[in-house]
Amino acid sequence: MSIVLGKTSQSRMDGLDPDMRKVVLEAAATAPPELDFMVLEGVRTPEQMMINYGKGRTAIQCEAKGVPARYAQPRAAKVTWLSDPFNSPHKARPTGGRAVDLAPYPIDWNNHARFTALAKHVLATAKRLGIRVRWGKDWDEDGKYEEKGETDGPHFELVR
Ligand SMILES: [Zn+2]
Repeated sequence: MSIVLGKTSQSRMDGLDPDMRKVVLEAAATAPPELDFMVLEGVRTPEQMMINYGKGRTAIQCEAKGVPARYAQPRAAKVTWLSDPFNSPHKARPTGGRAVDLAPYPIDWNNHARFTALAKHVLATAKRLGIRVRWGKDWDEDGKYEEKGETDGPHFELVR
């Protein structure tokens, strides 16, 4: 069984670390139809990192981290807890970006069970390939999802 990644999903893998890309492609190649998914984001530009950091933060908080005040959106919901806004696992690296965000397709943000089912499939695929990947709802990789309130259901990253 396999699902087909669309052109948009494929182009969003540009610049990814070859191991991360391998996991995504193999996960697609072995996914049953009910685990159809798409790639939301791979390598993130500095601009996008600043936009994300500005969400839920004031101009002063932004400037303290080198993010121009115009990115501040204090009323928006916070989306990142990075101590360094530019050190996202999604950033471009010489060896390729280490993180990718995936979502079950068609996307239903409220269907957490589907995100979990997809994550289990991706993590099992990575394990089979011998590539260490961590999920955004289990940062300490102990298999207990959301135990510390982790909410980054679409996020997968290589552990190096
Ligand atoms: Zn992510």
